[in-house]
Amino acid sequence: SGEGFLQALVKRPPLSAPARGGAFRVVIVGRPNVGKSTLYNRLATRNRAIVTPIAGTTRDRKESTVSLGGMTFDFADTGGLEDGADEPWKGPPGTPHPGMPQVVLKKTEEAIEDSDIVLFMVDARQGVTEADRHYARWVRKRQGRHRGVYIVANKTEGQLTEQMSQTLEECGRLGFGEPLAISSSHGDGMADFATALVPHYEEWEKEQEAAAEAGLESNRPLSEEEEAEEPVQLALVGRPNVGKSSLLNAVLREDRALTGPTPGLTRDAVAVEWTWGGKAVRLVDTAGIRKSGSRDTTTPLEELAVKDSMNAIHKAQVVVLVLDGSEGMLRKTELSIASMVATEGRALVVAANKSDLSGVSPGEYAKGVIRQVEDLMPDVRAPPVLSVCALDGSGVGSLMRSVIKARERWRARVPTAVLNRWLRKIVFLHPPPRDSTTGGACSLKYLTQVKRGPPEFRVFVNHLSIPADYQRYITKNLQKEFGFHGMQVRLSLKKSV
Ligand code: GDP
Ligand code: GDP
Repeated sequence: SGEGFLQALVKRPPLSAPARGGAFRVVIVGRPNVGKSTLYNRLATRNRAIVTPIAGTTRDRKESTVSLGGMTFDFADTGGLEDGADEPWKGPPGTPHPGMPQVVLKKTEEAIEDSDIVLFMVDARQGVTEADRHYARWVRKRQGRHRGVYIVANKTEGQLTEQMSQTLEECGRLGFGEPLAISSSHGDGMADFATALVPHYEEWEKEQEAAAEAGLESNRPLSEEEEAEEPVQLALVGRPNVGKSSLLNAVLREDRALTGPTPGLTRDAVAVEWTWGGKAVRLVDTAGIRKSGSRDTTTPLEELAVKDSMNAIHKAQVVVLVLDGSEGMLRKTELSIASMVATEGRALVVAANKSDLSGVSPGEYAKGVIRQVEDLMPDVRAPPVLSVCALDGSGVGSLMRSVIKARERWRARVPTAVLNRWLRKIVFLHPPPRDSTTGGACSLKYLTQVKRGPPEFRVFVNHLSIPADYQRYITKNLQKEFGFHGMQVRLSLKKSV
């Protein structure tokens, strides 16, 4: 039945993009009492995040999402390197201090392996100890090629003492570059600290973008110029007699540089191609535009319109649903077509034709159509609705501009840095609810676009239990902020500790 058909259409296809990436991770290591937790608490509080210890370990690794200097990263605290007395360790380099419980060392080692940056903290008031030097070598062995290690000299608030400057000098000799002088308890040096991490962070962000780009669905990667020249794959669909053929003719009349063959509208194999405002546009399917007289008469026309539309939608990037604007808004058949456009991941543009016969103002009409579409398809926001008159060509220019713009948004890629700045803002305005089973805080750590045409995003979260409502809050606002009108924005969750 019609209802069943409609329901089948509005069902969302499963999300399929491959898993990759994760948040940027910073881990802090160092002997006990150098001030690791103090720094951790300072940064974590800034973000008002809740510390969630990983259960089942004797000395838990604490992790939190931190916003600092325009970066968002996971920050992990570790059990102190070395347990017990601060004895000098003269054993072979790379072997653990005997006072260090293996389990803690193992956890710290794992935390380093998971990280992009290691902060190696020393106590500037105490100086660089033999154990510090020992663990500096231990860290170096685990640094790898891409991981950054920074020496952080803590407790440097107040006047620079002889001891402090001596420590800073010794830090320089640990082989990880110049130390960052900070005070965890007083907050001194935080700006320099953040600035030092930025280049590494930006490098990582670029890699994430490249990875996301590689994951984008496209058979052949196109250069920017090639992509701009690629014709907009357009379909005109709608019920019979709404004026699809007339509209196409109006468009072609307006165009001075018809590039394809003269449209033989009775031959459905012929694709019509033309340029509009310098952009190539290709009508991918003319089946629905064939004259009804030329086809079999056993199938009801409305049903045929849906079938024809389905084929056309599959080939298109942008679908113009043509309505007879003098006959009211969308009918059931037309709503079916609209929802098919969305669920197939195409961009929808509505053309209200016969504006010369319509008594309603274009603004009012558009509002009504948008309400209808949004009521049926909560995951589609504000499709463009253009009033046109195929007979005199009025509104045709605006319609084509909308079509070209729709394809541009449909294929747009939002830079990761922009996305994450935006994510922080909207999470701040409306934080996610707590996890329903554990009551723990949910945090959205990192957002990246994994696909375009249609846009698809992935958000890294600490709990997969982010409710559908909240996910919709994110997608709605993505649509609003980045102009994804008349198309689905897909979102998937990925857990990152
Ligand atoms: P952790 O064992 O490395 O995590 O060290 P904590 O953060 O627990 O700090 C150990 C001690 O050093 C505590 O008494 C802190 O109050 C103190 N401390 C931490 N940061 C600073 C700092 O910047 N300046 C001073 N003077 N003391 C600090
Ligand atoms: P199709 O079946 O959707 O391709 O519709 P056609 O293009 O064949 O148009 C159906 C009828 O509507 C024809 O008689 C057209 O002349 C008429 N028509 C198309 N566009 C307009 C318009 O903008 N205004 C008016 N008044 N009539 C139109």
